[in-house]
Amino acid sequence: MGKGFFNVPIAVNEPVKGYAPGSPERDAVLKAYKSMYNSKIDVPLYINGRDVVTGNTRTMSPPHDHKHEVGTYHLADKSHVEEAIATALEARKSWSQLPWEQRAAIFLKAAELIAGPYRDKINAATMIAQSKNIYQAEIDAACELIDFLRFNVQYMADIYMEQPESTNDAWNRVEYRPLEGFTYAVTPFNFTAIAGNLPACMALMGNVVIWKPSDSQVYSAKVIMDVFKEAGVPAGVINVVFGDPVMITETVLSSPDFSGLHFTGSTFVFKELWKQIGMNIHNYKTYPRIVGETGGKDFIVAHKTANPKQVATAIVRGAFEFQGQKCSAASRAYIPKSLWSDVKKYVIEDVKSFKMGSPEDMSNFITAVIHEGSFDKLAKYIDQAKADSDAEIIVGGGYDKSKGYFIEPTVIVTTNPQYKTMYTELFGPIITIYIYEDDTYSETLKLVDETSEYALTGAILATDRTAITKATTALQNSAGNFYINDKPTGAVVGQQPFGGARSSGTNDKAGSAQNLMRWVSTRLIKETFVTPTDYRYPFLGE
Ligand code: NAD
Repeated sequence: MGKGFFNVPIAVNEPVKGYAPGSPERDAVLKAYKSMYNSKIDVPLYINGRDVVTGNTRTMSPPHDHKHEVGTYHLADKSHVEEAIATALEARKSWSQLPWEQRAAIFLKAAELIAGPYRDKINAATMIAQSKNIYQAEIDAACELIDFLRFNVQYMADIYMEQPESTNDAWNRVEYRPLEGFTYAVTPFNFTAIAGNLPACMALMGNVVIWKPSDSQVYSAKVIMDVFKEAGVPAGVINVVFGDPVMITETVLSSPDFSGLHFTGSTFVFKELWKQIGMNIHNYKTYPRIVGETGGKDFIVAHKTANPKQVATAIVRGAFEFQGQKCSAASRAYIPKSLWSDVKKYVIEDVKSFKMGSPEDMSNFITAVIHEGSFDKLAKYIDQAKADSDAEIIVGGGYDKSKGYFIEPTVIVTTNPQYKTMYTELFGPIITIYIYEDDTYSETLKLVDETSEYALTGAILATDRTAITKATTALQNSAGNFYINDKPTGAVVGQQPFGGARSSGTNDKAGSAQNLMRWVSTRLIKETFVTPTDYRYPFLGE
């Protein structure tokens, strides 16, 4: 076979399309949306390169129109999960031996398929399944997923090039092999890009994968699988199972060949999975890698020197885009008293200008929250805030689930910095604001640091550099992604590697070489050219 040190294409971020009225991309995505919305699909499991129908099905409905059905998907039982594991282990034999450039080519091709022929479809699927408006769908399902796929290939090449020093008489080489066994990807509903990236990046590094998508993301997960298939991911390398998460996870984690968990979702679930892995630790052939990106209670702190209009915009965009269902969404804010009347005025004006409804009407900034469970939970917190004397709703507070799961973007102002919604992750369009006395900035930073168990994202807005420095130092452990004079959302692959610590995750930074390093095991090979033939060292001489 011909050899060479191949340069991978230099990764560049996929440009975000505008979808302005009359643009060709807007017409194309609306056409795809209408056609998909008005037909029904049946989504099978995908095991060993085959569609598996189990006959045990559940219906799929858009959150913004929950009585409308767009299809069904099939649920796995234990035997399907076991088959997926056996299949993956068989596929590993050839996949792990395939030259890396072949794996790179497959995922680079997947990126180009999404950038081109699948773009409208994956965006429309994300608008239907997860109720994203077109802009939120575009930055997630198209651009971020493309970026993950392209940049990961570059990071893989960077990792392989990381080699130790050698000498004239000994050559030291490090090889990066996939984990022994199979890996498990468990993905959340809220980002199509994360759903695609978690299994893909492990497979890129030579691993085989069982992928369990969220029940609320099956429709767009199907498009991802179609792309992977067309890009040439071989049978058995990524196997998709839907269904009871507890049964699927127990089956996977009880296999002695389980070697890595790549999880994104809520903190409680991740901790439970970690516990189960611990309980099974004596059964595994190798110590499993555990990577989890989980919940957040992301903050905005404004200093008295901040510009109130900028603070208001950071709050409004940071808290309400995609209905606050981003792990990075701002959900608590600390505003100095001297800025509050201006910030309040701008926030209320902005929120009142939002239109809410189906993503098909592109003038809607806000659409529905993901499902009834989320709707009911959010409505409960809103009702509680209406009843509590230490909380006041200054805008929003309405909700209606008759057609879709619509929650009005809601701003709660509290006089109690330990109010429940200052530390609980709600995962919806609700932000709670605490107004502090201007001269208690240092104490407020301490509050920000200590109020929640999470440490995912946070932002400081100020013009005074001393205030910025103070916040950057005081909040060092409070956020894995820290923003100065910006909203705390919108991380871009290759620019702001993403992840948090404390209860927000293992901080292995999705979209970075650091993350990919978790999916390989290294072997050092030392080759000596002139092998010694006498044990005696010179110092032993008389
Ligand atoms: P979730 O925890 O409900 O579900 C995530 C995945 O775990 C799904 O596939 C689900 O089916 C599975 N799951 C649920 N219960 C399980 C169980 N008992 N055993 C095994 N698997 C189980 O989360 P979600 O509602 O899909 O997503 C929202 C959450 O994800 C939020 O907490 C958000 O902060 C977090 N999130 C974090 C990041 C990040 O990068 N830190 C990114 C996106 C989402």
